[in-house]
This record gives sequence, C-alpha cells and structure tokens, in this order.
Amino acid sequence: MTNDLAISVGGLRKSYGDHAAVDGLDLAVRRGEVFALLGPNGAGKTTTVEILEGYRQRDAGEVSVLGVDPARADPAWRSRVGIVLQGTGEFDELTVREVVHHFAAFYPEPDDPEGVIDRVGLAGKADSRTHALSGGQKRRLDVALGIVGRPELLFLDEPTTGFDPEARREFWELIRGLAAAGTTIVLTTHYLEEAEALADRVGVIAGGRLVALDTPGRLGNRETALATVAWRTPEGAVEKAETATPTSFVADLAARFGGEVPGLTVSRPTLEDIYLTMIGQR
Ligand code: ATP
Repeated sequence: MTNDLAISVGGLRKSYGDHAAVDGLDLAVRRGEVFALLGPNGAGKTTTVEILEGYRQRDAGEVSVLGVDPARADPAWRSRVGIVLQGTGEFDELTVREVVHHFAAFYPEPDDPEGVIDRVGLAGKADSRTHALSGGQKRRLDVALGIVGRPELLFLDEPTTGFDPEARREFWELIRGLAAAGTTIVLTTHYLEEAEALADRVGVIAGGRLVALDTPGRLGNRETALATVAWRTPEGAVEKAETATPTSFVADLAARFGGEVPGLTVSRPTLEDIYLTMIGQR
C-alpha cells in the first residue's frame, strides 16, 4: 500500500445472507484523482463505497483509505473524509447558512462557510429554510456539507440526480475546482456523460466485481473501436460502413460524390455504447 494511493482495496467481500453483493473486488484510487464508479442497479457500488467510508463492515479483504483501515475509523480520520450521501439536505426550520455554519464547527480546520455556500451556488438562498429548497438546491446543500470540512477525499453518491442541465454543469465546475485543489474524488453515477466529463478513470462494477478499469476515452478499447461512416445515396437511402480508417474512407467517398457527401456522419461508440455492451445490455 503505497503513499500515492488514496484508496487501496484487495479481495473485498461482503454478503447479505447467501447473496454476495461484493465478490472479490480489487481497486486502487490515486491521490488527487477523480474516480467514477459505474455499474447497474444492485452491482455493489453502494456497499463498496459504504465499506470505504467506514459505515459498513466487510466480510473479507484488505482496505486502506488515506492509509487507515476504515473499519477502525476514528474522528481524526473522519474529518479527512467528506461524504455526500443521496438526499439528506433537509434540516427542519434551520436556514442554509445556519446548517453550513453548524457543520463547519464539527471540523478541526473547516473552510469558510460563506465561501462554501457561494461556491455551491446557494448564496441567494443562504437565509432560506432548508425545507423550502428545491430538489437540486438540497443536493447543493448536501455538497456544501460534504466539503465544508476541507476533506482530502470526497465521496459523492449520484451527486447530480435531479439537477437540471445548467445546474449539472455548474456542479461539474465545482468538482473540477476541488480536484484542481488536490481533493481526491470518488463518485458513483448513472450518467455516463458525467463520468466522461469529470473522471480521470472509470471503474465498472458488475456482480460485485470490478469488470473494467480505464480512462473514459479508452474504456472497452473505445479509442480503437471501428468508426461508423453514414451517408445518403442519391436515391435518398442511408448507407453505413464500419472502418478503421475513416479519414481515407471519407476521402474516397467525397471523390465518388465529386465533392460534398450528402448526410455525412462519422461516429465512434459513445461511452454509453461501450458500457452497455460491457454489462451485457446490448
Ligand atoms: P444502485 O445503483 O441501485 O444504487 P448498487 O450498485 O449501489 O446499486 P448495492 O446497493 O451495493 O448496489 O447492492 C448490491 C446488492 O446487495 C443488491 O443485490 C442489493 O439488493 C443487496 N443489498 C444491499 N444492501 C443490502 C442490505 N442491507 N441487506 C440485504 N441486501 C442488501
């Protein structure tokens, strides 16, 4: 277990009754990395992440998170780890400002609560009671509470579920800013474009095991996958061809058409195509 790893997992197992939710999982996340965990419902992501967070006991395997076994987590370790769970964000009659200040006081070296409120885009709602926030605004508050302690490692569980496209993009900027400042980030998501936009590396979990691990661009040999060239024939039908050399293919096509090729598109598999193939859904 070397020091440049924020997380190191070997042979992790966890069963519920006779169902193996995590079934021999190996994983390493580098310090400063944004790591996305993808996988279908029930794949074992939440179980894995909860073990890493110290909130669930494992049956077997080696786990080190910031150099500590989370099964023996103490308050000093907890203050170095930020967690954004799915859907808390409601604190009765308290205002956003009160809640963020309150949480900041739990940490030895918190960030400035007002700055955090601003960074998550809640400055205009600082004096609103949390129960009056919209769904997306509650998620922003969750994020504020996850980062106010200035964690070295931040876990985000499906962070942008329910966000509108603009809020999602603003959130991505926030995450990029945290990553640029050196925070290690582990996020689970069902949005492939989110993994692609944010992650340095993507791990795909299926059936409680890590079935693929790579950069978003290289996952499942995506980089070298054949390109599909499509165009319209003079009769109006769509023709398609798969090729490893799309540039010369299109040059030949252009020569054949004597210039512009009608309806020309060149595409490679998206991360979603690759992912669905990988988990056997395509
Ligand atoms: P999702 O994408 O739906 O959140 P996930 O990948 O996070 O799924 P887990 O929540 O880790 O999956 O669940 C893995 C398996 O373990 C599932 O089959 C689930 O039903 C089962 N499981 C999870 N928690 C428990 C529990 N407390 N008791 C019994 N079974 C559980």
